[in-house]
Amino acid sequence: MTEAATTGELGTRPPSRWRRVVLKMSGEALASSASDETIDAGVVERIAEEIARSRAELGNEIAIVVGGGNIWRGTTGAHAGLDRATSDHMGMLATVINALALQDALERQGQPTRVLSAIHMAEVAEPYIRRRAIRHLEKGRVVIFAAGMGNPYFTTDTPAALRAAEIGAQAVLKGTHSGVDGVYSADPLIDPSATRFDEISFMDVVTQDLRVMDLTAITFCKDNGLSMLVFDLMRPGNIYRALRGDPIGTLVR
Ligand code: UDP
Repeated sequence: MTEAATTGELGTRPPSRWRRVVLKMSGEALASSASDETIDAGVVERIAEEIARSRAELGNEIAIVVGGGNIWRGTTGAHAGLDRATSDHMGMLATVINALALQDALERQGQPTRVLSAIHMAEVAEPYIRRRAIRHLEKGRVVIFAAGMGNPYFTTDTPAALRAAEIGAQAVLKGTHSGVDGVYSADPLIDPSATRFDEISFMDVVTQDLRVMDLTAITFCKDNGLSMLVFDLMRPGNIYRALRGDPIGTLVR
């Protein structure tokens, strides 16, 4: 697929609810469930194939924020006695490793992809520059925001929301990997009577203390008019459905 082919000037497309989105996935989504591989090439390929197909067929502008939890989480190190900021920097570097794996897989699918890092590392990624990110998206490239926000004391949920607002995205599509396919009235892995919401307000998520995303990210989305779709990333076809605007998972707005 050439870059020109992905910009989608030609032909008609099925309508998509989202013109520009940030797809947030946890680093653990890239890990193997069957072995102790931190990055499972087969899983990454499946995710990349779906993103590339969605980009080509639906024409949404897609930015990705990937976490680093399959490799390192700041809080893990901090609990073991590491300096918290240092441990968070290690976590941010972990997100860069995942971003490069995704970029490689997307480009093998023929989808031009740029990694923009919040921590400067000129040899492996472009620096994060908002206008450059938008230009890449307009040209049909997938953009991966690596190294979170570049600041410790956050998880990648907050940069997913922040970058979405910065680039004028309509929504954060939060793909889950735990088998929980949306927002439930209680934790469905513990309480079998829990029910899934098709739609819920940010206010209700906060007042009912429903664990969807970090609270900072939720309040940020609410204050900045962003929608959030929580859906099961691991179910084949769901990335495409989420990007097409199908009624899957839970829409928070
Ligand atoms: N992190 C950070 N600032 C950011 C984003 C991430 O310090 O803006 C660090 C933090 O230590 C976090 C780690 O990077 O634990 C990996 O990100 P996250 O925990 O969100 O990964 P996920 O759980 O989504 O795989």
